[in-house]
Amino acid sequence: MSRVAVIGGGLAGLAAAYRLRQIGLEPVVFEAGSDFGGKVQTEYIDGLVLEQGPDSFLVRKPEVVQLVRELGLADELVALQPGGSGSAIYARGRLHPIPPGLMLGLPTEVWPIVRSGLLSPLGKLRAAGDFVLPRDRGEGDQPLGQLVARRLGGQVLDRLVAPLLTGIYAGDPWSMSTEATFPQLLELERSDGSLVLGARRLRRKAPKPTAPPGPMFMTMRLGLGQIIEALIAALPAACLRPQSAVTDLALTSRGYRLTLGDGEEIDASGVILTLPAPAAGHLLRDLAPQAAAHLFAVPYASLAVTQFAYRPEDVPSLKGSGFLVDRAAGLTITACTYVVNKWPHESSGAVLLRCYLGRAGADPLGSDDESLLAAVRQDLETVLGIRAQPWLQRVYRWPEGMPQYTVGHVARTAEIFGLLRELPGLALAGAAYRGVGMPDVVRQANQAAEEVAQTLSQAGSEEESPRTN
Ligand SMILES: Cc1cc2nc3c(=O)[nH]c(=O)nc-3n(C[C@H](O)[C@H](O)[C@H](O)COP(=O)(O)OP(=O)(O)OC[C@H]3O[C@@H](n4cnc5c(N)ncnc54)[C@H](O)[C@@H]3O)c2cc1C
Repeated sequence: MSRVAVIGGGLAGLAAAYRLRQIGLEPVVFEAGSDFGGKVQTEYIDGLVLEQGPDSFLVRKPEVVQLVRELGLADELVALQPGGSGSAIYARGRLHPIPPGLMLGLPTEVWPIVRSGLLSPLGKLRAAGDFVLPRDRGEGDQPLGQLVARRLGGQVLDRLVAPLLTGIYAGDPWSMSTEATFPQLLELERSDGSLVLGARRLRRKAPKPTAPPGPMFMTMRLGLGQIIEALIAALPAACLRPQSAVTDLALTSRGYRLTLGDGEEIDASGVILTLPAPAAGHLLRDLAPQAAAHLFAVPYASLAVTQFAYRPEDVPSLKGSGFLVDRAAGLTITACTYVVNKWPHESSGAVLLRCYLGRAGADPLGSDDESLLAAVRQDLETVLGIRAQPWLQRVYRWPEGMPQYTVGHVARTAEIFGLLRELPGLALAGAAYRGVGMPDVVRQANQAAEEVAQTLSQAGSEEESPRTN
């Protein structure tokens, strides 16, 4: 059996190892930390299920649901609760429900926007410019902020699109790639001459559902850490090497040689790198210097997640899933999730609120925990009027936690993957490349496992085939 070294034991690494085992190869996962799971970490305190990183996954992209089913955990899936849908945006000193009819973050209906207090009268008038402004026929990528501001004006960008973008990518709209985040928008301007009319056309064209729509998001009964535990349980203990940072990677005549922090050397026929991009660049610096240079250049944003548990009598009634924040509002937080409404099974009778801090260009991690928590409590008082002290509060820090897909990301990623074809049996997967969401990461892990397996089986059959000379 060929040994494949999987470097990095986050979701991508564990999912790749799981797939490799299914294919019949022998994976060994090398993880620098003492715990597996990377960003996917769940803590349990007093009946609360506290997510430290992601809290749910998109169902429309099926890879996580499929994996959960394969792991025998289908009964543990929890759908987004009806009381936890409908989000708001905090702007101009108050919460505004996100107008209905959005598609790709853009309004497709005029009246909800006209009635909403989210935009000023001037902002609404400027947004209507999208119907009449000439289309830009330029090819190629451009910053999402530039495209939206040009067509719909600064208010739609700042109060609608940027908060949504921050919620997903912690990104700066003026540097984020449209092609890597909302590629359809580039096409809509070219084909329809208007983002709103194009988004409306797509919405109308979408097939009418024959059954009631399923949930948009899901999580697990014991939190997302349950998936990590199940992946660990599905792999033999010998496949898992925690506290094993890989510091060097070299080519040998039969594959690759890894060096660990303590000097141990391990040979493998194939390698899957599921590290943050700069760490992958470090290991590839000699084997593929050009690819490594691109990997070093992927920027990251640092984030923090806070969790607060309040007594129900201390908090006003909360409607919907939470709110996003217009960055001009002057708050510290970028978003707040009402866990109690979305995922009541995690709240254990408390009112659990989860707030996010940090985005590209605004690193929150310079402050100590007490100051961060105080700043978030101040924001919760400003927005929701909560003055009481929570009975539990936690901060989870994610330095360099979110890769930034800046303009040109798709082309650079294609170039990195192209350059790595020179290294047979080596593949990349993970959040830095083709999607940051959990389903994207699992999809990339599956692809990497299949690609490496295919290369190794080709190499094996070439070795076995009789020589003709
Ligand atoms: C705060 C936050 C909230 C999020 N919310 C959501 C959400 O709700 N839904 C969603 O779908 N996605 C969400 N995401 C995104 C998603 O969680 C991540 O993109 C995904 O978990 C990344 O998985 P990964 O395996 O690619 O990387 P990681 O989880 O970063 O794993 C990489 C691993 O490599 C290890 N490593 C690094 N260097 C070495 C080395 N030299 N040797 C060995 N190991 C090494 C690290 O210790 C780490 O464990 C969120 C992310 C964050 C940070």
